Amino acid sequence: MFWTKAFIPTLKEIPEGAQTASHSLLVRGGFIRMLIAGVYTYLPLGWKVLNNIEKIIRQEMDASGAQELLLSALQPQELWINSGRNKEIGQVMFRFADRRGRNLCLGPTHEEIITDLAKKNIFSYRQLPLILYQIQVKFRDEIRPRFGLLRSCEFIMKDAYSFDCNEEGLKMSYKKMRQTYARIFKRLGLTFVEVEADPGLMGGGISHEFMAVAAAGEDIVKYCKSCKYSVSSSVATSRCPNCSRSLEKINAIEIGHIFQLGTKYSGIQEAHFLNAEGKEKPLIMGCYGMGVSRIISAIIEQNNDEDGIIWPTEVSPYKIIILPLERNGRVYEVALGIYNSLKEDFELLMDERDEYAGIKFKDADLIGIPLQIIISSRLLRENKIELKIRRTGERRILKSDKIDEVITTTMKDIGPI
Ligand SMILES: [Zn+2]
Repeated sequence: MFWTKAFIPTLKEIPEGAQTASHSLLVRGGFIRMLIAGVYTYLPLGWKVLNNIEKIIRQEMDASGAQELLLSALQPQELWINSGRNKEIGQVMFRFADRRGRNLCLGPTHEEIITDLAKKNIFSYRQLPLILYQIQVKFRDEIRPRFGLLRSCEFIMKDAYSFDCNEEGLKMSYKKMRQTYARIFKRLGLTFVEVEADPGLMGGGISHEFMAVAAAGEDIVKYCKSCKYSVSSSVATSRCPNCSRSLEKINAIEIGHIFQLGTKYSGIQEAHFLNAEGKEKPLIMGCYGMGVSRIISAIIEQNNDEDGIIWPTEVSPYKIIILPLERNGRVYEVALGIYNSLKEDFELLMDERDEYAGIKFKDADLIGIPLQIIISSRLLRENKIELKIRRTGERRILKSDKIDEVITTTMKDIGPI
């Protein structure tokens, strides 16, 4: 992609109301724009990041044996009234009636909907176990939307639901999802802790949260330095149950929450199946949420410096940015040659704008592409070009004819593409 053809509206100023690094950098880097408080547009760079994250999630979920589907965002309130959660969820849910007077809502979550689907389509133990997931837009009428994508009214989540014949099956599905989540967050380059949690509104029994450690996080995790035990602050305990040391409090962003629901929904909504003995039983369910749009913010909170974002390579919207410091002549010719020789192997962004070098350097650091290739007339006189690794700031000067092999090894050093 050529910068002059791309839509990357970067800003110099910190946007009004931005209280966190991720919010400020996403807006300044031209990744998102606010439409109204709590509602955001993903610009092309932000959309690419989102897609890269979703790709990793899909690969790992599919590898676990889960199957993707897409439930509707528009839901009948009736199902929420039946499950008893309509009152409980209160004003967080957007409710309205359509022209025929049907009472609808915009889904803040999908337990009722998937349970209804299971009730109408799962009849026998032979169809179990089953794990279904979706990546879907969800809605919450937040009192105080803030921190950009961290607390917004419209957001993207990955939610999965497991269906089993018995508790033993649920435990296996739960373990499988827990391991899958850990793999996903690791691939996303996140530093996180897994904590025992309070199931809250979701109900059911055992529950765990995945927390990305970040000063900007609104959640508090209680953590034992010595044995790494961690627990949600909603669980009342002041000492580590393993080594009885006192627990330290750290800020974190909730990026995943998984629950053993048991028969909480299948019981009330009568989602039953026939077991191997021919007896009718409620499905044993688990549910597994992951905040996809919020993950973007969590990654930035953990990967930034005073100059901008530092994307992990697999998430980055482009893998390499080429910076010719002149728009014409040999500098541009060499840049174009490099672009053409690398474009089959890497997603490239070429900043061929007619701008000062300083502006190009600032923007390249701001948007956080892992590797910069800088082509200047000064170095070209010696047939050399310069590489800059965004994360470390390390610079390497190399012969311009060695570019292909050097780039390939440098990219391997930086991390998986
Ligand atoms: Zn401990």
